Amino acid sequence: MKAILFRQHGAPEVLQFTDVPDPEPRPTEVLVRVRACALNHLDLWVRGGLPNVPIPLPHIPGSDVAGEIAKVGSEVTTVRVGQKVVLAPGVSCGKCSACISGFDNRCRQFSNLGYMIDGGCAEFVRAPEVNCLPYPENLSFEEAAALPLVFQTAWHMLVDRAQLQPGEDVLVLGAGSGVGSAAIQIAKFFGAHVITTAGSDTKLEKFAKKSAASPTSAASTSSSSTSAPPLGTTASPAFHSPAAWSRAAALPATTPNSICAFSSAASYRCSAPTWD
Ligand SMILES: [Zn+2]
Repeated sequence: MKAILFRQHGAPEVLQFTDVPDPEPRPTEVLVRVRACALNHLDLWVRGGLPNVPIPLPHIPGSDVAGEIAKVGSEVTTVRVGQKVVLAPGVSCGKCSACISGFDNRCRQFSNLGYMIDGGCAEFVRAPEVNCLPYPENLSFEEAAALPLVFQTAWHMLVDRAQLQPGEDVLVLGAGSGVGSAAIQIAKFFGAHVITTAGSDTKLEKFAKKSAASPTSAASTSSSSTSAPPLGTTASPAFHSPAAWSRAAALPATTPNSICAFSSAASYRCSAPTWD
């Protein structure tokens, strides 16, 4: 099959469009014909190299995949060849105590497609059967491929970690980011009141005000700002913005009942992504 891979870390010039053997699904895996694969900031980290993260080389990046199942392993029972799917990026062993307890993100073998394992920048990618999500028929392959990793992260922050409840206030810093726009939509879905910020009025208009049907409070901030809108007494703010300033800006807005959820390491101040 054709694939985009790199054999050494570096600038975009290390990427190669080349032929590689077709991956063969294991008994509990599927082979997906990739119709669209989105790019994520994780792809930049992986290509450039991360401290103390030994990415197996050569490596095929790409965490966000939408496509059709081309082949199924011998033990696969819940999906069939030809079925359209979106792949959940998080891959774990499925057998350890963390996985069995429902905390697969704490699995010692946890990774994401395109991170420590090959991803979707290829004609085919293999993935566990359990990673096959129902395909949203109202979306194109390209649109569907934009969803997985950012929604996985935002859902884990808001629903799993912060245990978001209807009516709570949610402060989302950085509405223009993938995780931010996902967080706004998830918070709205759960009936929360969203307060959000972005680096410019253009971003606010594009991502914050148009990303949800119900009213969203929005404010433009700059990277040098140290202020954030005040929250109510039941606030569950989600901090996802990359730079350290966002944390300093948001903390004064919290109350004793606030829950802070941090993600992202897209800042020079951080060296690796965090998942928990
Ligand atoms: Zn596990």
